[in-house]
Amino acid sequence: MVDFIGIGRVRELVARRGAARFMAELAAEIEADFRRWDAFEKSARHASHSPLGVIELMPASDGRLYSFKYVNGHPKNTAEGLLTVTAFGVLADVQSGYPLLLSELTLTTALRTAATSALAARHMARPKSRVMALIGNGAQSEFQALAFHELLGVRELRLYDVDSAATAKLERNLTRLHLPGLRMQRCADAAHAAQGADIVTTVTADKRNATILTAPMIAPGMHLNAVGGDCPGKTELHRDILARADVRVVVEFEPQSRMEGEIQQMPADFPVTELAALLRGAAVGRVSAAEVTVFDSVGFALEDFSALRYLRRIHHEEPGARPAIDLVPDLDDPKDLFALLAAPLRARGVAA
Ligand code: NAD
Repeated sequence: MVDFIGIGRVRELVARRGAARFMAELAAEIEADFRRWDAFEKSARHASHSPLGVIELMPASDGRLYSFKYVNGHPKNTAEGLLTVTAFGVLADVQSGYPLLLSELTLTTALRTAATSALAARHMARPKSRVMALIGNGAQSEFQALAFHELLGVRELRLYDVDSAATAKLERNLTRLHLPGLRMQRCADAAHAAQGADIVTTVTADKRNATILTAPMIAPGMHLNAVGGDCPGKTELHRDILARADVRVVVEFEPQSRMEGEIQQMPADFPVTELAALLRGAAVGRVSAAEVTVFDSVGFALEDFSALRYLRRIHHEEPGARPAIDLVPDLDDPKDLFALLAAPLRARGVAA
């Protein structure tokens, strides 16, 4: 039998662990894996593009465990009552090749993306950054708010979305969480949201080269957490921001980010640092208080590998029903696969 973690079990695990502890543990798990970057077999994800969206497969392995995620990105879905991003994934044992876990990854993607953003910001944002603009108030936004509140100490959010109902939903959800000291302000546009912010998170969805932030909106010392641009032809930052002399850009896995990140707008030799170098202490995320730093996030398979392994661990630690599914045959004689069909066929008289 293969462990199964559905939406219900993830909700239960987050509730049992507590959102803050879950986020902190997940971030620690991701950080630990990025620190052993060289142990991983890495590849850019395989993307299948269509006019309205993309479907991607994201594998990673450390030689002991193997994982993959199936994920889609369809920005127009919400108009049809569907999510922009859904995902599921598998964790497998490399030695036998057997799957160990089949899990939902829609909620988990939002959690791991936010945890990774906060990890990067810890090394890149100015110390004591307390004010964050949150532009794009859809499905991912509460998770980003939570991670930056819990892991970075952000206490003021400046909110903007072209859809005011999305902002109202975000405000309502965060108000109900009673996060200590958190204040929120609705802003008239992205420029207004960015005013006075230490960190600007962009997490919008639009399948084009959007211009959510332009160079005049960026003040010295800001940290940009650019999450929504994650496909060829789908970006959020004006290229003039990246062309600034004082900008420092960090990416997850350089070969994938050159195709999918904000830096797809820049020449192939545009200098970037990988997140692993920051987390291993081999590079710094910021050299001066005035520097503008950009985490050009697209999402990398390693984050899902860490999340799947973490989920499986706490699935076994926490009480509650632990469903498993019969995804792989369990046989007395592994060469006798047909035994599984022999009985039902005999019962129907087919084999007679
Ligand atoms: P969503 O559709 O639920 O929310 C997106 C929000 O952006 C919507 O509320 C929409 O109204 C708003 N928006 C669109 N254009 C805007 C604009 N010009 N200005 C302000 N707001 C605007 O999508 P989601 O699930 O929250 O995902 C957001 C983005 O993050 C997507 O592009 C998705 O592909 C990306 N994403 C990235 C990662 C990663 O690891 N980097 C992970 C998950 C999702």
